[in-house]
Amino acid sequence: MKVAVFSTKPFDREFLERHNSAYGHNLVFFEERLTEQSCALAISFRAVCVFVNDQLNSKVLTELSKNGTSLIALRSAGFNNVDIVTAGELGLTVVRVPGYSPYAVAEHTVALIMALNRRICRAHYRIRDGNFSLEGLLGFELHGRTVGIVGTGRIGKIVAKILNGFGCLLLAADPSRDSECESLGVKYVSFDELYSKSDVITLHCPLMPQTDHMINAEVISRMKTGVMLINTSRGALIDTKSVIEALKSGKIGYLGLDVYEEEADLFFEDLSNQIIQDDVLARLLTFPNVIITGHQAFFTRNALENIAKTTLANITDFEKGRPCANEINGEIMMR
Ligand code: NAD
Repeated sequence: MKVAVFSTKPFDREFLERHNSAYGHNLVFFEERLTEQSCALAISFRAVCVFVNDQLNSKVLTELSKNGTSLIALRSAGFNNVDIVTAGELGLTVVRVPGYSPYAVAEHTVALIMALNRRICRAHYRIRDGNFSLEGLLGFELHGRTVGIVGTGRIGKIVAKILNGFGCLLLAADPSRDSECESLGVKYVSFDELYSKSDVITLHCPLMPQTDHMINAEVISRMKTGVMLINTSRGALIDTKSVIEALKSGKIGYLGLDVYEEEADLFFEDLSNQIIQDDVLARLLTFPNVIITGHQAFFTRNALENIAKTTLANITDFEKGRPCANEINGEIMMR
């Protein structure tokens, strides 16, 4: 099938081309992000293949449908950037790659927790500058600390398993309980209890209207002073301006982000020769107790292999008219 691949980076091309020999699709790679301005590139392509910061709002989907596209193949698990209702109305099929490597994201989450706690980035810069002082590098032992996991799906569950190995007390909040987590000793509690009792809070639920800005000023006020907040899920789960106020007051003691609500125009690009215009991100970068990575939690060889293979198989299923287990339908919307 003729596929327009948007937001292509060299690594996307490498992995998709390597595995495409088994599928034989006609992949045409575009570096551009899919937006209202760039969607004309997809004219006459039956499928478009997109990533997390491509915009699939109703205008873009209508234009794609008018121009002959009938399949949207996401190279991601999250699909908050797709207007699923409009896609359904237009008869567009949307497929994704659920759980391509939950270990990648879970391990990165724990890397952020450890680096923040033991001030690894500060220590690294200090030592390189010949400064061997320990002032300001004091950490705490994770053993015995309470970690609140918001969302115990594929990723949250692995975070629970890893932190169980550290000897943490694990609390979780999720509308559906996971039996493996329960047998590990994870205690499902109300959001209120999780927020008020946790030393570390880590977010692993999807971005949906119900979870948009779930971490806001009122919720932060219920947290422990000095709490560590980690978000490797989706940026808009957090109201960033409220988090900045909480960092200034000391209410939040540590912040680890792999995602940012306004990341679309920034992340995945080398902007090192430009002036960053986003004052909120610029303020975040001034705090010594904040670590930000640029949506790299997924970025492992294993994950790229799985993304490429599953995406190509999803496209083949659609082409052959076979049911595809990775199709996003109304059922997922209701969850
Ligand atoms: P999943 O669907 O397996 O699990 C999500 C869990 O969240 C489910 O158990 C669900 O019941 C729960 N949930 C739903 N609404 C909730 C709410 N209001 N409060 C608490 N829990 C709620 O998803 P996953 O594979 O574990 O991925 C989680 C998120 O991680 C994705 O939605 C995606 O946004 C993000 N992600 C980020 C990266 C990255 O590179 N940073 C990579 C992959 C996925």
